[in-house]
Amino acid sequence: MSFYEIVQQYQDFPFEDFFAGISAEEVHQVVAKDTLQPLDFLTLLSPEAANHLELIAEKANRLTVQYFGRTIQLFAPLYISNYCSNQCIYCGFNTSNSIKRRKLNLEEIDLEARAIAETGIQHLLMLTGEAKAVTPMEYLLEAVACLKKHFASVSIEIFPMDTDEYRQMQQAGVDGLTLFQETYNEELYKQVHLRGKKRDYRYRLDGPERGAKAGMRMVNIGALLGLGEKRSEFFFTGLHADYLDRRYIDTEISISLPRFNPADCEFQPDYPVDDRTFVQFLLALRLFQPRFGVTVSTRENARMRDNLIQLGATRFSAGVCTSVGGYSMEEDRDPPQFEITDDRSVVQVAEAISAHGYQTIYKDWDRGI
Ligand code: SF4
Repeated sequence: MSFYEIVQQYQDFPFEDFFAGISAEEVHQVVAKDTLQPLDFLTLLSPEAANHLELIAEKANRLTVQYFGRTIQLFAPLYISNYCSNQCIYCGFNTSNSIKRRKLNLEEIDLEARAIAETGIQHLLMLTGEAKAVTPMEYLLEAVACLKKHFASVSIEIFPMDTDEYRQMQQAGVDGLTLFQETYNEELYKQVHLRGKKRDYRYRLDGPERGAKAGMRMVNIGALLGLGEKRSEFFFTGLHADYLDRRYIDTEISISLPRFNPADCEFQPDYPVDDRTFVQFLLALRLFQPRFGVTVSTRENARMRDNLIQLGATRFSAGVCTSVGGYSMEEDRDPPQFEITDDRSVVQVAEAISAHGYQTIYKDWDRGI
């Protein structure tokens, strides 16, 4: 069964009625279980479970330490192009926005890479807008070849690709793929993606699986929190990760929790996620799938990220700039894709991690010689 079919199975699921029927006792019973099924996970995402966060947090902390130790891994994103042919109504890079567009050449990519590598970062996430004609495969492969010289790990967050294309990227040295579904609600998906290849819900939904099939070592997924009904969106995110994890045992599956942040557009989220709910989602995920990595970006502020260190987060971005050329060309910064609320340097983030009794991990693998 494909993941699309699994999503469809829940099409008429009465989420509201399910949540209304959850009691405190059921939440306690789920927390006491060793292995959680999808509806147990949903129970932990319920409004009732929000009244028992301390209980859930205690177990989430224990499981995170058991599976990951007291560690937080750091990475940095590098935007090499902000050209985009899609019209996502929530994003400042969308094709109808008349912002300054830029695509870095190899020399500029090298400069950016050096500036990031000097901070100690060894895991890099290379990003583009989604404009295949402007950033074709040859360009991306050259960029990866350049980045490999500076970093132990290079991941990509670019337009979704066919399996063969992902394989080419993987063979060129890319070891991780991030691809956000944004929303698992197919109808809403069409309403917020007005133009471009991204309108194809199914092609995007199957993208992480194509990446895993192509041999990516890490696949990271997520829904843009705030866009769709939050509890069901996060439920599908967890199911999607679970689906991938069961089928691709050689691939490390992780989840990001990108929460809507004002970009250079008018869009305001219909389902804002407050801090407490954000924490509840993270904790519920940890009990559902203790092995999943959890990435928290600089969309979250420093206080929030510091609090998440002991609550199940395993990976932070640090020293981040979301403008094209922003690391090495400070005087000529383009508009960022979204506003950063934790603008601490890599050193400052590492200090905060140490202050919580955790170890900063800069590198957890090597592609070998
Ligand atoms: S979210 Fe991605 S695909 Fe959509 S407009 Fe922004 S950069 Fe383009």
